[in-house]
Amino acid sequence: MTPDTKLSEHARNQKAPIRVYRAEWVLPISTEPIQDGAVAVMEQFIEAVGPAEEIIAAYPGAELITFHHAILLPGFVNCHCHLEYAVFRGFLDNLNFGPWLLEFMDARGRLSLEDYSVSSLLGISECLSSGITTVAESMYSGTSLPAIREAGMRARVYQELFGIDDNALGENMMRITAKLDELEEQETDLIEIGLFPHAPYTVSASLYRAIGDLARKRGKMFGTHLAESKEESTYIRSGSGLLALDLREKVGWDHLGRESFGVTPVKYLQQWGVYGPDFLAVHCVNVGSRDVEILAKRDVAIAHCPKSNAKLGCGIAPLPGFLEAGIRVGFGTDSPASSNIMDMFGEMRTAIFLHRGTQRDVRILGAAECVHMATLGGARALNMDSLIGSLEPGKQADMIAVDMEYSHFTPIHDPYSALVYGGNQEDVFFTMVAGRHLYERKVLKTIDEEEVTNRAAGVKVKLWV
Ligand SMILES: [Zn+2]
Repeated sequence: MTPDTKLSEHARNQKAPIRVYRAEWVLPISTEPIQDGAVAVMEQFIEAVGPAEEIIAAYPGAELITFHHAILLPGFVNCHCHLEYAVFRGFLDNLNFGPWLLEFMDARGRLSLEDYSVSSLLGISECLSSGITTVAESMYSGTSLPAIREAGMRARVYQELFGIDDNALGENMMRITAKLDELEEQETDLIEIGLFPHAPYTVSASLYRAIGDLARKRGKMFGTHLAESKEESTYIRSGSGLLALDLREKVGWDHLGRESFGVTPVKYLQQWGVYGPDFLAVHCVNVGSRDVEILAKRDVAIAHCPKSNAKLGCGIAPLPGFLEAGIRVGFGTDSPASSNIMDMFGEMRTAIFLHRGTQRDVRILGAAECVHMATLGGARALNMDSLIGSLEPGKQADMIAVDMEYSHFTPIHDPYSALVYGGNQEDVFFTMVAGRHLYERKVLKTIDEEEVTNRAAGVKVKLWV
């Protein structure tokens, strides 16, 4: 194999120093694994990927960083999370979705903005130390964006939006537009803003339509939680149930009229013109084959969150159907309030076991396919694959290294199999975003982890009251 040493335009002009990262296995994802491979990096860009000897020969003056018995691969792309809720892990472990949501909404109000800042940093610490380099964050309190910027992580920060009262539609849209103006000011090379109407039971049809129009006018990606629970399906179909009654009472919306649409949540949203390649549907558990067809036809991407869906008793999304229909799918850890940890190894393993087990067929999903979904597949779902998701010349140098020294990895025949069936978040020892080392020899470089964990432990008393 000849290494692709084609220098990017940027590199040719800059002549910046090159660093070469060598490992026993390099997984470019877009091409076959390379045993004893290397990746050449200049500033934030990948310059070349190939067999170690050839890359080292091509860059004689480069700094050489050798990882030995390790797997080097693109950073994981977490297609759905709520970093701000990291301190909620373990808080409501044994409630079904509906009661969980109501209890969670009560508890959420007990934390201050400072608590949410700490919680965001705690979530980012976990992501970076477990190899997640990009997050699609659903932001509620506003604290995760500055924390992401401080940590140097890559993100699309989707602002969560709510509103069911159409009498206040104009007012809501003025507020949302002003918020978007404010957030756009905070975009960087690593942080992009998106809009996230929360869910069909907290956002009216008119508001979905208006947010979609705004997003498209301003060139922003948008998305929503969709078809997550049976309670949501009941709400849309018949305008009844816990989300129509208890939730509305809790948030002061009980005076508003309830409608029954007689369709599935996917079919319901189709009517409001929101679907397109710029739209990310999170969950899609309660969907039928007709719904999958609708999503595929409009090139909607899906964030698959198997652990959160299972833990809240919501069910199992039909991932094999999504893939068969050609839908772009990435994994999401969702929030630690529902899935407890943001571990992409756990998501990959849960997915492969759930789908193989329930379908009684191992051909449903393979290890290489899972790693692809956790990296390049996720990048495609977020429309970020021209930048990240694979190790290719010209792409951003977002890479991680997984330590294979442990007995649970030995012997390694297939690195994909080793990662999916044997890997754990603590096996990651190196994380780099845009050429910057953010986690090295298991130490976070931009976050004081001890301080953050100590402060996060202090927030606990406000939850378990
Ligand atoms: Zn969510």
